[in-house]
Amino acid sequence: MPTPDFLSALLRPELAELHAYTPIAGHFPVRLDANESPPLLSAEARAALARAAVPEDWGRYPDARLVELREAIAARCGVEPDEVLAGVGSDEVISILLTALSRPRPGADAASIVTTSPTFVMYKLSARARGMRAVEVPLDAGWDLDVAGLVRAVEFARPSVVFIASPNNPTGALASADRIEAVIAAASDALVIVDEAYIDFAPRDQLALVRKHPNVAVLRTLSKIGLASLRVGWLVGDRALVAELDKVRQPYNLPVPSQRAATFALRELGGELRRAAAFITEERERLARGLTELGLSVAPSHANFLWVGTRRPAGEVFEALAARGVLVRSFHGAGGRLAHRLRITVGLREENDRLLAEIAACA
Ligand code: PMP
Repeated sequence: MPTPDFLSALLRPELAELHAYTPIAGHFPVRLDANESPPLLSAEARAALARAAVPEDWGRYPDARLVELREAIAARCGVEPDEVLAGVGSDEVISILLTALSRPRPGADAASIVTTSPTFVMYKLSARARGMRAVEVPLDAGWDLDVAGLVRAVEFARPSVVFIASPNNPTGALASADRIEAVIAAASDALVIVDEAYIDFAPRDQLALVRKHPNVAVLRTLSKIGLASLRVGWLVGDRALVAELDKVRQPYNLPVPSQRAATFALRELGGELRRAAAFITEERERLARGLTELGLSVAPSHANFLWVGTRRPAGEVFEALAARGVLVRSFHGAGGRLAHRLRITVGLREENDRLLAEIAACA
């Protein structure tokens, strides 16, 4: 659709390089493309969530300060409520961060972020939509942080924010502790965001970094552990940072059903959510073994998905699987070492079996 001239003259020039986020439409009996959790919650938990979600008064705005939700998040993370900023998914928290921090750092000629490649696309998209530069440093051959490259990028770009997803999407790798520390040390004048969206599937978390370094904050979400419908994510960080970000947040950002159901889930469903995550972690290892037995290379994963090397071009395998009713995620458009990689979300046992059977025929 051509953009009218008057509009082109008004739009940020960066929008020309961006695309609206459009998940693949169509009916796929097995969807292993979006890193959601398969349906693992018990019928009792689902009924209790539905009861908890109902507003007391449909005519009233939600709690603008998210008091109960932030208390429940704080209790779960072992921090104080004023160290928590909650948003419509961690996506909204990322955009709040970049709105607040879109000013060039002293000594920098433009506002920028530094992140890795490949990684979660919203860091770059959100930065570009605000006119910030995005500097991407390729991960090393083992999909871990390239410290020398990141240090050079931080020195050269003088970024306002450094984003490290750990475990990373789409590679599943947890960044080495010493490498994250080295990046934080090099970026002591920037804010370093450690995105822990997949931490429930990992053997260790990195929340202690927030206490250790005043310039570190951590992102988390309920989306990967079975509650993506609620769109609840949050940042844990220094209370002075949270207070500033709160000025940018829309006052009623999280609807009543999301606030209430998320609060309930955090308070009452901890055991069930942990068991679901443990099931996914076990299934991930079973699926990894199955794929390895098929001769495919599977990177070690600490997330709810696998980063799988294909013999045939990934785009062809993606199409062949989709034609067989199994949707996974391919990044072959990026080329290079991504041209032979697929990201496959761990599903129910029978979905994973179906994936194994279909991929055996086409990878
Ligand atoms: N961070 C990472 C690393 C992700 O992969 C995702 C989801 N794809 C998000 C954040 C966003 O999660 P949400 O907005 O659903 O909380």
